Amino acid sequence: MLAVGVDVGGTKIAGGVVDARGEVLRRARRDTPSTDSKAVQDAIAELVAELRTAVSADLAPDEDVCAVGIGAAGFVDAARATVLFAPNLAWRDEPLRAEVAARVGLPVVVENDANAAAWGETRFGAAAGRENAVCVTVGTGIGGGVVVDGHLLRGRFGMAAEFGHMRVVPEGVQCGCGQFGCWEQYASGRALVRRARGLVTAGTPASGRLRELCGGEPADLTGPMVTAAAAAGDPASVGLFAELGDWLGAGLASLAAVLDPGCFVIGGGVAEVGELLLGPARESFRRRLPAGSHRPLAEILPAALGNDAGIVGAADLARADCAWPT
Ligand SMILES: [Zn+2]
Repeated sequence: MLAVGVDVGGTKIAGGVVDARGEVLRRARRDTPSTDSKAVQDAIAELVAELRTAVSADLAPDEDVCAVGIGAAGFVDAARATVLFAPNLAWRDEPLRAEVAARVGLPVVVENDANAAAWGETRFGAAAGRENAVCVTVGTGIGGGVVVDGHLLRGRFGMAAEFGHMRVVPEGVQCGCGQFGCWEQYASGRALVRRARGLVTAGTPASGRLRELCGGEPADLTGPMVTAAAAAGDPASVGLFAELGDWLGAGLASLAAVLDPGCFVIGGGVAEVGELLLGPARESFRRRLPAGSHRPLAEILPAALGNDAGIVGAADLARADCAWPT
């Protein structure tokens, strides 16, 4: 049973044909038309058609793509049909499932992109074979998804697992969500860059390498620059990731208190630095886990599927809607 998974982001739409073992057989992508919601739906339909054509030559006559799963960066309603709000797209109460299904003639499932990625990692990636996992994507912000007892946790309104917006600092840094002190203001790529720019602005002697990288202009300093400096052993940059990991582990300890997941899967661009982030996160998690000496410690694992997680997860969620042969 093949399904197409589509990952719709603010700048690009990536899709793939995925088999029942989670293997991506074909891939394609488009730029996201940002101005017009109908144009995005047309682009998704074109991508699906292109993928079906590309894969058809390799298939037996009775084999075909049977469903389409779409992971979208936004709030998706509990019926997995409508995108209620997408901050980086033109969608507002967009009936995406119906619009795309009418264009492609296949069953369509719509899921939040972070939930789709979490499902992919739990079914086929770092947490494969497990029934309980919390997947945390550390990028510009923090997103993620939760699998509890084998089921994706969606919540009453489809908005569960927005844990980047847990408040970790009372009246802390203001967040784009309108609140103050959210976790993603302390443990995300945005936090990393804010702290790195602060070091350069303060002119501390240890920030010399970072100052070189941005030509002395703090506003020109980027996350990948800090990552490269840390990977090359720059002590100030390594320290920034240790600080980020400390915040990350603190939030994971709170999540463990609620969800008891057994393992955390950490993905996203910021996590590509690897142990420089995950090592301090494990240490922080161990120290901050409530009653930590009296319970098993959850593992903290790097994500395994990279950018494919959303495609693989969305396709697998859609596969459940395929009409099985009788
Ligand atoms: Zn927030």
